[in-house]
Amino acid sequence: MSDLIVNVAVPKPLRATFDYRLPDSLPRPRPGARLKVPFGSREIIGVCLGVSTEAATATPLKAVSAVLDADPALPADVLALVSWAAEYYKHPIGDALATALPGYLRAGRQLQDLYERWWRACPGETGQIPARATKQRAAFEALSRAGPQTQSALRAQGFDNRVLDALAARGLAESTDAPPAPPTATRDGGLELTAEQATAVDALNAAAGDFCAHLLEGVTGSGKTEVYLQVIANVLAAGRQALVLVPEISLTPQTLARFEARFAAVGAYHSALGDAERARAWDGCKSGRLAVLIGTRSAIFVPFKDLGFIAVDEEHDGSFKQQDGFHYSARDLAAKRASDLRIPVVFGSATPALETVHNAESGRYRHLRLTARTGAAAPPRMQVVDLRGQSLSEGLSRTLLSALKSQLGAGNQGLVFINRRGYAPSLVCTSCGERSDCPRCEIPFTVHRSPPTLRCHHCLAQAPIPNVCAACGFDGLRPIGFGTQRTEAALVSAFPDVPVLRIDRDTTRSPQALEHRLAHIRRGQPAILVGTQMLAKGHHFPRVTVVGVLNADAGFASADFRAPEHTAQLIEQVAGRAGRAERPGEVIIQSYDPDNPLLAALIADGYQGFARTELTHRRAAGLPPFRAMALLRAEAAEQAPALEHLRTLLEPIEALADVERWGPVPAPLARRANRFRTQAAVLARSRTVLGRALNLVLERAASIRRRNVRFSLDVDPFDMV
Ligand code: ADP
Ligand code: ZN
Repeated sequence: MSDLIVNVAVPKPLRATFDYRLPDSLPRPRPGARLKVPFGSREIIGVCLGVSTEAATATPLKAVSAVLDADPALPADVLALVSWAAEYYKHPIGDALATALPGYLRAGRQLQDLYERWWRACPGETGQIPARATKQRAAFEALSRAGPQTQSALRAQGFDNRVLDALAARGLAESTDAPPAPPTATRDGGLELTAEQATAVDALNAAAGDFCAHLLEGVTGSGKTEVYLQVIANVLAAGRQALVLVPEISLTPQTLARFEARFAAVGAYHSALGDAERARAWDGCKSGRLAVLIGTRSAIFVPFKDLGFIAVDEEHDGSFKQQDGFHYSARDLAAKRASDLRIPVVFGSATPALETVHNAESGRYRHLRLTARTGAAAPPRMQVVDLRGQSLSEGLSRTLLSALKSQLGAGNQGLVFINRRGYAPSLVCTSCGERSDCPRCEIPFTVHRSPPTLRCHHCLAQAPIPNVCAACGFDGLRPIGFGTQRTEAALVSAFPDVPVLRIDRDTTRSPQALEHRLAHIRRGQPAILVGTQMLAKGHHFPRVTVVGVLNADAGFASADFRAPEHTAQLIEQVAGRAGRAERPGEVIIQSYDPDNPLLAALIADGYQGFARTELTHRRAAGLPPFRAMALLRAEAAEQAPALEHLRTLLEPIEALADVERWGPVPAPLARRANRFRTQAAVLARSRTVLGRALNLVLERAASIRRRNVRFSLDVDPFDMV
């Protein structure tokens, strides 16, 4: 009799899978089931990829220690999606699967342990409990008085399992599993749709039952979410489930509340949740108890019982692309998953990524538009203020200050956007010109005021603010440039009677802190919001009638080919926060380069005009989306070996037709925490050609060992720094 051989993916950055022998004592696992296997000197949790009777190698095999899932943790469709993604992004399958599993399951725990036992009192008398058993008496009284309670609630009152089991043995208490959640339901019918919304909802409803991708283009506040809600109501009525992907920052309690107000069984999935909560949401979708999941990037891998619809909101947002480890794009995988499942998917944005615009223009995606804001009149007026030769007050132009003054005076709110947190982006000696740099990255330290420190935004190093110049000893060090803290201080002194609310990563470490500030703004009293790009995401501020954009157009001049796109999105998104019918918005863009053609295109023709112009450039330059791109990165303690490593890896593809290589060169931020960073790009006519080229690169990488160089591969890179 031949043994069964199990092929296992282990959670290691290894490009191999491993065969194990299945002992007769263990059940035959199905693909996607978790297994406990010996690996090195430890036991680890892997995922079963398949079972066969033949091993790939002749060496004696170790045995599987345990089969953890009878019902595979990863159902076939998710296993296929992750395998496809691992191949497409050239990431080791074991590590990709580990990314897809919630931490709770990765740790080998069982889903049924997630659910609390509930205890309730049975009819009986305290007198049945001996007087010395005071805990049992107290527990019985608590249960009789307060009704059913969870085991952990009882433990918090000092009643442990021993006490409860003793009560149960006396027939005075009993326990049950958590009651199942109520059946999925829609609570109300939603708003009366505008004509454009109705067109979009009809198109999406009509697409049900087959794969079809849609771009839903509409500014913030134009009613995209209402479109998702009404389509989802239809999906649920057909007995199916829906997945809504949102950027990290916009999964606020308010967003969730809006879905919960409409639907009965809504779950959330994001990194701020604890392991058990995440696993509960995951299991809720898999078992069908949840009807709708609102989640960030990794929710794309959550299994569903019967997924019928995917929406990706703010689809241009960078947080959908994982920037380290498994470099997947949840947005792009949403299209893949929808196509696998033959269901509709919608990508919503006011400023769609150029890839998505291109997909819509070439007819691959259906293009739906919401051009009017619900209940709103004209789009905001944009004007550029030429800063050249102007004297500014702490970085603020007279034009902006007087617009703020008159709008605040009229009872409205203002918003000032500056894409840099901290007080000032550098500290410079006024005598010798020496700049305080992060010694590990050789870029300027950012000055912070609360608390006072120098911080490197690149490697997170911190240093005290020096009193004298390290180079010449002079005591006149001056912060140069502006960050949110400095602009906040300037606004406080210009408008002492108006609250100034700063929104950046330093003031909103928790979702609650962000929500608190947003709630303040929603109350509608005069106030000024000052902040970074966090302001540009997802929120609508109807009382804001004036928006100031400080120096944002500097991004048009970056070395990163995507920088113009991201800059235009940022400006358009910030501008789109403002105004509604009775209070039209005014946007003031401060610029030292007011004639920049990209800025001019954006002002004159809006984001769509900009996108057309920029796509023409991309086509001419052979850049994505017109060619497929991957970035090879190498990092080392010195620059030369990192560059050399990339050069070696590129050798096998030197002669390939249809493949172009750029570099290797030092990365735009060439050093980080004393490590030198280098990169090279590979561009190919198609994704298939790119994939083949990258396989050759990886083969070469596997054949050489350069211990001190860290190499990584990023397919469809989101940014180039
Ligand atoms: P988006 O998702 O594009 O930002 P929302 O769906 O959040 O837009 O809509 C913005 C605001 O307009 C919300 O307060 C919403 O309740 C309201 N709204 C949306 N659609 C309608 C409609 N058809 N009639 C009235 N109000 C609407
Ligand atoms: Zn640094």
